[in-house]
Amino acid sequence: MVVMSSTAVVAASSRPVDVTDPVITVRGLTKSYGGRTVVDHLDLDVHAGEVVGLIGANGAGKTTTVEILQGLRRADAGQVRVLGLDPVAAGDRLRRLVGSQLQSSGLPDRMRVGEAMRLFAGPNASDAEVLLERFGLAGKRRSPYGGMSGGERQRLFLVLAVLNRPRLVILDELTQGLDPAARHEVWSAVEQLRSAGTTVLLVTHELEEAEALCEHVVAMRDGRVLDRGAPAELIARHAGAAVVRFTLPAQDAATVASMLQELNRLPGVAGVVREHGQAVVRGSATAIAHVGSWLVRTGCPVPDDLRVDVPSLESALLTLLESPASSSTPASAPRPRLHTDTIGATS
Ligand code: ATP
Repeated sequence: MVVMSSTAVVAASSRPVDVTDPVITVRGLTKSYGGRTVVDHLDLDVHAGEVVGLIGANGAGKTTTVEILQGLRRADAGQVRVLGLDPVAAGDRLRRLVGSQLQSSGLPDRMRVGEAMRLFAGPNASDAEVLLERFGLAGKRRSPYGGMSGGERQRLFLVLAVLNRPRLVILDELTQGLDPAARHEVWSAVEQLRSAGTTVLLVTHELEEAEALCEHVVAMRDGRVLDRGAPAELIARHAGAAVVRFTLPAQDAATVASMLQELNRLPGVAGVVREHGQAVVRGSATAIAHVGSWLVRTGCPVPDDLRVDVPSLESALLTLLESPASSSTPASAPRPRLHTDTIGATS
């Protein structure tokens, strides 16, 4: 099924990006299906040059929202403006200004890359060869869609989404089902869009992706916003502390006690306990650096059970999703969910 508009044209905004320019303005957007509200008084602002992510639970209303933004569905209530236009009333005009890759994007298996590029190119399209090269698809012009890998297909959709120099690109589940290498290739492609000043609205369940690519994220559940902000802000608000754990390089009780006290005094450390023979240090990201430095200063080998649990956007979202349904931001201290990385394993 071909879902991209072959009429997509121009808007070649060679004008400098003004980050105060509103690209998407949504106020009180509400949508119900069969009496069930799936988007509930949503407000959303995306400015020129930003990469903004919609994240959240399955069925949170993310896809419904981006479909409404593209005029593919009608809102029941609220105000929606995309590049100053009403997506329903000015749908044709908007399709020339917005590039998209939707969950349902697809091309006929036998269609070759070059044919797709010609089909979708408007009068002011970018140079196809240059784009294919930039997105790692050089030499694929004659390849049929059906023979391409998942990563190549997604990069082709990105190429098609930006072919006509859109002012806004909407990407829904861009890297779903891709292997890690292909995912990183697609992320690099999105990075390129960001560097070029393209405004991107990204719907994703890949929180590493949202953390890497988005300036702002909006966390949704049941059609409502749970919280929004920079990934680092959501992490700071909801993901809990960093935790460093390791076996202390000492045996006797007096040295162990004095080491625990030293650790407790390090900058950024919020608390130190002993659990199962290990020191467990909780604190900010600063604490991680100081604990590492302290370990080196002891002159002992780095403990081979050294682990660092880094607060991540995933842990922040999990905490948010566990919050009571009535609250838009959880009031109580969240239970930390931690993403574990081993940062040292030498003995
Ligand atoms: P996911 O992350 O799983 O893709 P989402 O956040 O994108 O979910 P939507 O696809 O917008 O969520 O769906 C929101 C809710 O609306 C879901 O419960 C879904 O089943 C329902 N829904 C979506 N489209 C329709 C439709 N055409 N008719 C009835 N219900 C629908």
